[in-house]
Amino acid sequence: MVTLPEILLFSMAEEREKVIEAEISQVKERAPSIEGVKLITCVPMFVIVSLKKTEQKHLTANLQFPPNYPNEQIVVELKSKTLSDKLLYGLTNVCDQETKKWVGQKQVMVMINFIMNFMEENPLCICSDEISDIKKKMLSDCDDLKLKQKSSQLVFRICQNNYHMSFVLSVPEFYPSVQIGIEVGDYNFPELLKTHFQANAVEIARKCVQPPLKKNSKEPPFKPAPSLKPVCEFLINDCIKKYPQEVCPVCTDRCLPTSPGEKLSGGRQVERVYCGHIFHHGCLRKYMKTPPFTGGKKCPSCGKQIFHQKWRITPELAEARWAHKQARQRELEEVVDFLD
Ligand SMILES: [Zn+2]
Ligand SMILES: [Zn+2]
Repeated sequence: MVTLPEILLFSMAEEREKVIEAEISQVKERAPSIEGVKLITCVPMFVIVSLKKTEQKHLTANLQFPPNYPNEQIVVELKSKTLSDKLLYGLTNVCDQETKKWVGQKQVMVMINFIMNFMEENPLCICSDEISDIKKKMLSDCDDLKLKQKSSQLVFRICQNNYHMSFVLSVPEFYPSVQIGIEVGDYNFPELLKTHFQANAVEIARKCVQPPLKKNSKEPPFKPAPSLKPVCEFLINDCIKKYPQEVCPVCTDRCLPTSPGEKLSGGRQVERVYCGHIFHHGCLRKYMKTPPFTGGKKCPSCGKQIFHQKWRITPELAEARWAHKQARQRELEEVVDFLD
């Protein structure tokens, strides 16, 4: 004699089996027709499916039918070689919220479409780790970062003292094999510094994806690297946050004026030399004309030789000019003596 609950359990199990069988044949029919979707396993226990938008936007979803399916949420597990664990964790939670809405109904195709849509609508997911690092380590309260998923862009406004610069970084579809795009918006740094910031940021991004011209046989073969974080490190830490606080190595006063718009006399204008240090024009001019000249003039801050297009003279020439100036000074003094 079979007791009632056992009959009930039996019929429920049978019902579950039927529902899953029907769903599985539906999945087998529909899933392969979606671009980028490949069924790996599709059995009454679980469905494993590869979901691929691009080389980078690629993950594997393991969807397991729980004991009370479909009256219980399907269990989603995501794995990826390219997307970060943190992103997968977040996406799994979002999937979990979504499946709640579909309890009592078929859930596999819903999940496949949901994840494919997520990758389509959130192109910045391919650099989610870099973005959270940037937010955590580089930005302070006065700074602003907006993520524009629609256009796959990051919009920054970075401030330091009274200075600021806005820039937009575009993450291309085939990132990180293709470097990010850099566009400078409004800024109140001297033109000279802005040009340097921009040109070097572009160069840093390029170097991340293009192999060096000179091959070093000892090093492992070149592989394109993510360019978003290196570019932000440079623009934020090495430029926008740094220069407003730099002092002139000669007079040790702040190099940039406290109020960015201030009209500066020629001598107080900013010059940047090869090593990256900035000087007041007048201070640098005086320094370059003062001995010792042997071995070239060295930056007082870092000891590197100073290269600047306005002062491209050899130590010998500087020495000669110095001697000439000294001689004239002596002559002048003699004349003055004579007049006395
Ligand atoms: Zn100075
Ligand atoms: Zn220096």
